[in-house]
Amino acid sequence: MMTGPIKETPIMAQYGKIKAQYPDCLVFFRLGEFYELFDEDAKIAAQILQIVLTARHKNSSTPVPMCGVPVHASDGYIAKLVKSGYKVALCEQLDDVEEEDRASHPTKGPIHRDVVRVITPGTLTEDTLLEAKENNFLLSLVRYYPQKSSPTYVIAYVDISTGDFFIQSHPLSELEEALCALNPKEILIPEPLWKSDAVPFLLKSWKHTLTILPESRFEIEGCEHRLSVFFQVESTQGLGSFSQGEICAAGGLVDYVVLTQKRQALKLSRPKHHRQDFWVRLDPFTRKNLEIFETFSGHSTHTLARMMDRTVTAFGARLLTYRLQHPTQDLEILNTRLDSIEYFLHQDEKRTGIHSLLKNIPDLERIVTRLINGRGHPKEWLSLRQGLGMLPHLSPFLERCPLEIRPLIPHLTHYQSFHHTLCQAFQENGSQEDGWINPQYSPALKNLRRIHQDAVEILDSLQRRYIEITGINALKIKYNKIIGHYIEIPPQATSKMPFEFTLKQTLTTSARYTTGELCDMAAQLEAATQRTQALEEEIIQEFTQSLGELHGALKQACEFLGILDVSVALAELAHQHHYTRPFLDQSTVFQIEQGRHPVIEWVFFHENQKKFIANHCELTPEHPLWIMTGPNMAGKSTFLRQNALIAFMAHMGSFVPAKSAKIGCIDRIFTRVGANDDLARGHSTFMVEMLETACILNQATKKSFVILDEVGRGTSTQDGLSLAWACVEYMLENLECRTLFSTHYHELAALNYLPCVRFFTFKITEWNEQIIFFHEVVEGITDQSYGIHVARLAGMPERLLVRAQELLQQFREHPPMSSVLLKKNTLL
Ligand code: ADP
Repeated sequence: MMTGPIKETPIMAQYGKIKAQYPDCLVFFRLGEFYELFDEDAKIAAQILQIVLTARHKNSSTPVPMCGVPVHASDGYIAKLVKSGYKVALCEQLDDVEEEDRASHPTKGPIHRDVVRVITPGTLTEDTLLEAKENNFLLSLVRYYPQKSSPTYVIAYVDISTGDFFIQSHPLSELEEALCALNPKEILIPEPLWKSDAVPFLLKSWKHTLTILPESRFEIEGCEHRLSVFFQVESTQGLGSFSQGEICAAGGLVDYVVLTQKRQALKLSRPKHHRQDFWVRLDPFTRKNLEIFETFSGHSTHTLARMMDRTVTAFGARLLTYRLQHPTQDLEILNTRLDSIEYFLHQDEKRTGIHSLLKNIPDLERIVTRLINGRGHPKEWLSLRQGLGMLPHLSPFLERCPLEIRPLIPHLTHYQSFHHTLCQAFQENGSQEDGWINPQYSPALKNLRRIHQDAVEILDSLQRRYIEITGINALKIKYNKIIGHYIEIPPQATSKMPFEFTLKQTLTTSARYTTGELCDMAAQLEAATQRTQALEEEIIQEFTQSLGELHGALKQACEFLGILDVSVALAELAHQHHYTRPFLDQSTVFQIEQGRHPVIEWVFFHENQKKFIANHCELTPEHPLWIMTGPNMAGKSTFLRQNALIAFMAHMGSFVPAKSAKIGCIDRIFTRVGANDDLARGHSTFMVEMLETACILNQATKKSFVILDEVGRGTSTQDGLSLAWACVEYMLENLECRTLFSTHYHELAALNYLPCVRFFTFKITEWNEQIIFFHEVVEGITDQSYGIHVARLAGMPERLLVRAQELLQQFREHPPMSSVLLKKNTLL
């Protein structure tokens, strides 16, 4: 039966006030063991989480939509909502008292509740919510006008799960590239900048990650003050030399962290400049085209990252991701990395030994950050202990190890005494009920546990005695959070209960009693439990303090452990697939002997398919440009991409899939491959092709490496040929960069008067009207496309193929100008 509108309850009034403060968040409102969501929040959450949408005051004329999730399982639900782009405000009960107890004192109103944290995609710290293999960056973007010069875009970014905090500055033209490399999970932007002309277009692909904030949050005075307070320095000069724009970006970022984390103060590293002068730059198209982290179809299998990743620790995986995002031109850095790989490549036993030890090291970097921020689960102390316990075992494997890894050695023994204390203090199978701390560790704790144990035993004997007195064998002394300890009997046995037993509750399945004696014992037990818990918390707090002191060192240890993991992983990769060390110098050559496509070769290898055919490539200052022709399916795209990938892998400091490789300095890698529509930006296929090509022609330098796959194919033949032709001429006259240029236009053979161009094609044979591809690169040019052969391979109807062959013959003799020529002379 439906009743009229009901008066708002005190709890709903409290909810209303809190929700009003967090209009852009889904408010998780704690009610006992559940988080409840109401109204619109409930509708959204129920749909995304696929949970039942019910209603509070169902039978009234104004029911409130409601859904809920149990607190103990809330992590997964929160993760799903945050991944779907929502922010979650966690509203907790802040009094110790239970709602039910409050209910008996209506004058007091509901228990105190408030939001203790706002969880957003950029402020996650929980293991369950984070991707282990990549950083989770929260980034702020501001525009800054240095005196008398053009605007600079400053980005400050922090991973609060590790504490890393960096700042970079860029001109607008480089901003998108920098954002792509960092792949931020949430971007904070001042409202006026978002409303300006330049930025919104550029940020289109990050729209779902944007948080638009009032400009006041980024004003210089406030930001200076906030940073000084947060990092406890007299003035921001104490943090290093930062421009006004950098202070504003960093200040706005810290402000957001503090606001979302509420009462839980977080520790972050002090901000550092992240210099990118020596990076090999990759524009967003190229990152996509090389399928480093994602294939065109949006999957992460069959990508370069997946193929290369043999790391066994989370911090190692994150370092590898970082290197894949930031290839470098710095030969010293690259050779140091290559030295390490070379060393481990020849040490099979060390590789196996190190990786089997590292496998047992959990994500120390994030665990330590959580623990020192008071967010860790007590179990994480055990994980920390296990990880630290592994370190000394690495020592024998690191004798005479490469330079890059040597700084790790002192760390292997540095934490021994801390580890020893952790071993003494934490119980192996600790739990909330049995406690986390070993009673032997603290005499006071031991004493409390004894009192606790005695009380438990007394309760046991009390139960036995009560069974004897009442003759009810099913009698039990039980406990629940709401009414505490009580005596429970089946309802049909109530007549047997002596009158000194006071009835507390009658339920359909049982009756609950208490006695003065039980109340006394329960109070003693409760007191002992509370004191035990308080003491445990105190001990854990002391450990948190000590860990805080070791934090800096441990962060470094993780960094070097990550380097070790990556070096061993890349050596393992080189070993398994017979990679070679690239020889890198300052020249502008690109000489690859028997190069292979790393990902296709790997897929072939795993799927037991055919062997991948290796091919040479030699671009020199005398011959910087190769024109590749050949029918579809011959292997043009594969060859172009494989060389770009080899250049890329060498510049992230990896061995490469080739017999030998000599690679001169590369400042940027450009790719224009395949046709991938960018419909999200409203561009047609041909427009995308032209945009990508224009970007290359405008920005490539003599040190760049360029692959251009079939430029001009998206338009008419004459247009396309003219564009392709002009492109080659332009590149040779103006850029002289190393270029692989594939085309369908055999007419480009006429460019052979240019001494610096070489022509290559692919070996094929025709047999029985079939075409056989050898995928072998040979000097020369094809004069046929074999398109009809490929169409036959694809299963086109035979009649259609016959007609196509006939038309082709006619077109060869006379260009297709007159419709007369198009008349069929075969009757189909
Ligand atoms: P094109 O660009 O000339 O149309 P692709 O590069 O797309 O040709 O190659 C077509 C297919 O041929 C690829 O999917 C791959 O399976 C195979 N292929 C290409 N190059 C090789 C090679 N060097 N060794 C073995 N198979 C290859």
